[in-house]
Amino acid sequence: MYSYLTQLECTFCGATYPANELHTVCAGCGKVLYARYDLSAARGAMTKEALASRPFTLWRYHEVLPVLDPANVVTLGEGGTPLLPLPHFGRAIGLPGLLAKDESGNPTGSFKARGMALAISRAKELGARAVAAPSAGNAASAMSAYAARAGLPAYVFMPQDTPTIMQAECTAYGAHVYLVDGLINDAGKIVRENSAARGWFDVSTLKEPYRAEGKKTMGYELAEQLDWELPDAIIYPTGGGTGIVGMWKAFAEMETLGLIGPRRPKMICVQSTGCAPIVEAFNRGERHAPLFAGAQTLAPGIRVPIAIGDYLILDALRESGGTALTVTDDEILAATREVAASDGLYASPEAAATFVAARKLAASGFLGGGERVIVFSTGAGLKHTELIDLDLPVLDPHNPAVSAQIA
Ligand SMILES: *Cc1c(COP(=O)(O)O)cnc(C)c1O
Ligand SMILES: [Zn+2]
Repeated sequence: MYSYLTQLECTFCGATYPANELHTVCAGCGKVLYARYDLSAARGAMTKEALASRPFTLWRYHEVLPVLDPANVVTLGEGGTPLLPLPHFGRAIGLPGLLAKDESGNPTGSFKARGMALAISRAKELGARAVAAPSAGNAASAMSAYAARAGLPAYVFMPQDTPTIMQAECTAYGAHVYLVDGLINDAGKIVRENSAARGWFDVSTLKEPYRAEGKKTMGYELAEQLDWELPDAIIYPTGGGTGIVGMWKAFAEMETLGLIGPRRPKMICVQSTGCAPIVEAFNRGERHAPLFAGAQTLAPGIRVPIAIGDYLILDALRESGGTALTVTDDEILAATREVAASDGLYASPEAAATFVAARKLAASGFLGGGERVIVFSTGAGLKHTELIDLDLPVLDPHNPAVSAQIA
């Protein structure tokens, strides 16, 4: 059997829904639906030994992924990303075992590919005619690419200050691209209000059940890459939180599958001081995070002022003994260059936020020098070259004194 998917289950009220039809959020309470599997049956098929012989893409975990028929898999080669030591930066901040899960090699340059591969595959499998999403940029480019591959029309709505390269990507993939005078939640309103009438399937973050299934594979990969020993801490740049809640779900599944024991990493959420709804709710001891007013940060993927999965993120932080913290845009800019120059990893600003967080948590003693800490390098710095100040000398090759101009 390719997939052991059984049903959808509401993470808030427990209502269940059949998995063989398109669903967005819980019809009863409006909260997040999760895909559920017959894990006791999958346990016999998805063993460590069976996994070891499969290609290193996220589809190696197909028993616990929702696509029922392999013919419906829409793939561009997502997943199977490296776990890179950051020896120089790690030593500099007192965490010599620091590792980056480098997601930039995914199709469209970010980990959004994982979620969209699953969401679009399932949308195709269940007969969607078109897909739509609000996005800070990377989700839009991933959705556009997978929709193109699946032959589905894609409608994307992004803030008008979304990095140009992401606007260009969506346009190249043939999506219908609209810029919105507002933030991602404002773009979401347009999608919500138009989906039913226009027949779009809305693949907004955690408003359909399958993007989280794609992102949970980061948890499976981490475990496998660390020889089935979970790390001590995971630092995650949190926007809608799909990856953090997806990995948390993956760990529970893995324990039921007999792949790991009960030990869990500390799950750590990093946001920008300019947009920190989850950090503020964590500090207030609350389970829900209201809209963060006036959200502003140069890291678009974490400029998410309100998250439907707030309670799932906050539960994971607390149950894991993790924490939540903010970093400033200036710290993000400095860390981007520092890690690129020290260890050869030129990461997106969201990823750089995790580097800053690692430094702060090592300095405060929350993370110990002997711990195995993972920073999630969620996207490629190449999409954000406008953030690197360039004032480069121009040499005249015919000037006999050119050599004197070189430092
Ligand atoms: C979307 C995005 C994030 C935030 O991811 P969530 O799982 O939605 O919290 C972080 N980094 C990058 C590069 C992103 O595109
Ligand atoms: Zn519900």
